[in-house]
Amino acid sequence: MTAPPICSSRSPRASPIRNTRPEVREQRATILIVDDQPANIHALAKLLKDDYRIITATNAAKALELARREPGPDLILLDILMPDQDGYGLCRELKADEATHAIPVIFVTALDQAQDEAKGLQLGAADYISKPFNPAIVRARVHNQVSLKLKTDLLEKIALQDGLTEIPNRRYFDRKLSQEWNRQSRHQQPLSLLMIDIDHFKPYNDHYGHGAGDECLRRVAQALAQAPTRSADLVARYGGEEFVVLLPDTDATGAREVAEKMRAAIHTLAIPHAYSPVSDHITISLGGSTHQPQRQRPATSSEALKQVADQALYQAKEQGRDRLFWRDIDAS
Ligand SMILES: [Mg+2]
Repeated sequence: MTAPPICSSRSPRASPIRNTRPEVREQRATILIVDDQPANIHALAKLLKDDYRIITATNAAKALELARREPGPDLILLDILMPDQDGYGLCRELKADEATHAIPVIFVTALDQAQDEAKGLQLGAADYISKPFNPAIVRARVHNQVSLKLKTDLLEKIALQDGLTEIPNRRYFDRKLSQEWNRQSRHQQPLSLLMIDIDHFKPYNDHYGHGAGDECLRRVAQALAQAPTRSADLVARYGGEEFVVLLPDTDATGAREVAEKMRAAIHTLAIPHAYSPVSDHITISLGGSTHQPQRQRPATSSEALKQVADQALYQAKEQGRDRLFWRDIDAS
């Protein structure tokens, strides 16, 4: 597998979908139809194509590949009898994989014995349709499962978004950090982390009131979220007036560029702060660190990266705030 390039100058990677928020989709739901017989795929696709985006696979390997793509399908219609891997095996694999386990599966099959259906449901399938099927019943069952999936996605999105600033929350960040940590270690790519604090936010809140404090947090969050240019970059609210930025495939040089861009963006907002000893407007302090898997002992953890960036943030404050402090993870 070819590793993605490291960009210290951080050339933006074009992406139509900004990934700084938990995945949200507003297009039609997507259905993956898996069947070794193209005629069967055609019959189901014809039935559903007016209401859904249809993608298809004639074997389990291709189906797995399509299911793991981002964004994945919202429902899988799965045949059982297929020459290489059967539908049961594929369902088992989908349900065991973190990336695909939440996609509902409906078996559509010529097997019509109760034990076949029981086996499918025990493997985690949401529903089971025997052939020959009634088109209206297929449409209704598909509709029910897709509605349920979209509701679950919405709840998930709400659970992973910060209500005030509408950027991802700490829970989402922690999840992404552990995913990226594993991915970057596998690909031997650098991973950078920034911790950010609004300077003297308590006196701001005390003097201007909590309403103004909330508005300040919202504006800072939006300005920070707009600074990174790559779809995989993540800006999240960590808690209170603290924010965190995850920069995959980014070395220290590239991450420092993003950090300085963020510091400048907050200056540009020019939110007046008459009670800050640092400036007459709102400023931020930033601490950053990069993990280079090629150079570091494998024992270093994502928790260590977080701690080192946090120590760097502390240093930035000690040295007078409104600045970036960089700390090498080896120095800890
Ligand atoms: Mg078949």
